[in-house]
Amino acid sequence: MRVYDLHTHSTASDGVLAPSALIRRAKNRSVDTLALTDHDTVGGIAEARPAAAAESIRLVAGVEISVSWQEHLIHVIGLGIDETDNGLLRGLDSLRHRRDDRAEQMAVRLKKASIPSALEGARRYQTTDILSRTHFARYLVEIGRVDSVDEAFKQFLNAGTPGHVPMQWATLAEAIIWITDAGGHAVVAHPGRYKIDETLLYRFLEAFVESGGIGIEVVCSNLKPDQINRFAGIARKYGLKASAGSDFHSPRSNRELGRLAPLPENVVPVWQDRDW
Ligand code: AMP
Ligand code: MN
Ligand code: MN
Ligand code: MN
Repeated sequence: MRVYDLHTHSTASDGVLAPSALIRRAKNRSVDTLALTDHDTVGGIAEARPAAAAESIRLVAGVEISVSWQEHLIHVIGLGIDETDNGLLRGLDSLRHRRDDRAEQMAVRLKKASIPSALEGARRYQTTDILSRTHFARYLVEIGRVDSVDEAFKQFLNAGTPGHVPMQWATLAEAIIWITDAGGHAVVAHPGRYKIDETLLYRFLEAFVESGGIGIEVVCSNLKPDQINRFAGIARKYGLKASAGSDFHSPRSNRELGRLAPLPENVVPVWQDRDW
């Protein structure tokens, strides 16, 4: 049986391993099909491709797009995209500019919360052209304002805290069009992690399917069997294919590469009828 991990990050966004180091870790952890899905960029794929070929790992070119849907931040994964597609690249470029504007506004807000030089501090952790709240979180840990990245989000970066800036990311329809026009499959990322109730989740999934989305992550890091069964049921209800991804960002976290339960048998895998 093949081992799939279809949701991972590298230094091209807010992960800590360079794409080639990520591929080596995948090899060591017996993952044989890996999707690189950095936030709002495909910038890591050029390095990942030859590294994957050298290690005989199947690389699925991917992306994780930030979407605003009814005031909620939702992540939509694109799998099997052509990373040179112009429409996709233009769309992602606009999101990166919005990230830069947000970062400046975040720094102003954090200064009012007596945190100096947050923009400069976050930029020291930035590795490419993506500036993430994760980079701010690492700076807040560095200066000792919080003990962990998780605390940084809870106290300063999540919605409703002093550093948060409300954002308008891609619309759901835009994100799905960018992905599908680039030959990819649109998949809902980590459906259990949104602060929306069941009714709203169902309304979102109706809109997602209506816009051309075809999959949902049924297996994610640390999901319990009953949660996996719940998302398998939801996949069947909406006619969505099932994906599996760890959302790996860094070693020594609780989202390890390839550490995933098997997909339940009663769902259609997103990789069925694909060459990956
Ligand atoms: P951004 O896309 O810049 O708004 O940042 C979102 C990213 O922050 C997510 O993809 C996660 O990697 C990270 N993140 C969000 N909440 C937490 C948390 N509580 N602990 C650690 N990382 C988090
Ligand atoms: Mn992230
Ligand atoms: Mn995500
Ligand atoms: Mn992710």
